[in-house]
Amino acid sequence: MSTQKKFGMLHDNNKCIGCQSCSIACRAENRVPNGVYRLQVWVMGPRGEYPNLAMDFHRQSCVMCENPPCVPVCPTGASYINEQGVVLVDQDKCVGCKYCIAACPYNARFTNPDTGAASKCTFCWESRVSKGEQPACASICPTNAIIFGDLNDPKSELRDVIAHNYINRSMEHLGTQPKLFIIPNAGGDK
Ligand code: SF4
Ligand code: SF4
Repeated sequence: MSTQKKFGMLHDNNKCIGCQSCSIACRAENRVPNGVYRLQVWVMGPRGEYPNLAMDFHRQSCVMCENPPCVPVCPTGASYINEQGVVLVDQDKCVGCKYCIAACPYNARFTNPDTGAASKCTFCWESRVSKGEQPACASICPTNAIIFGDLNDPKSELRDVIAHNYINRSMEHLGTQPKLFIIPNAGGDK
């Protein structure tokens, strides 16, 4: 078993109730300026016919690609993936060219209006995960819809849930190999 951690996340669309606790926690934790976001939960619906209506909840954030298109296009090396599989931006090296924003097929990046540098979800690497804590979103979710953990640990809850559920990853056909795993909405009876 590898001792090197590789971090991933799972969003259970069945457990999510669209309360936005995660996106609010993210804004506070990462001091995200108004008008931009690292994480949103898109509330979609209702679908179906009355009285059998259902809502869908989609986590919109960086999917933490194993093969991230945002990295090789960066002319300064500011955009990189660390040893734990977390895609990050070195704010001091970023020149604000927006190449990475254009290259991301998930629309996950933005220019931070306060710094002029590219920004996005980092799994709260700087303030929490590098210190052994959970990302703010995973720690606050009232329904445990978000599971964060080490994909290299076969005993992790994340690996267990991935092994025992039908799982999606967004736009897998692009070869980006997202480390954000999705349990799709199975029902229609929310
Ligand atoms: Fe969904 Fe949990 Fe985020 Fe609320 S905190 S929107 S339940 S993922
Ligand atoms: Fe980069 Fe976008 Fe993939 Fe995140 S989702 S790693 S910003 S290409």
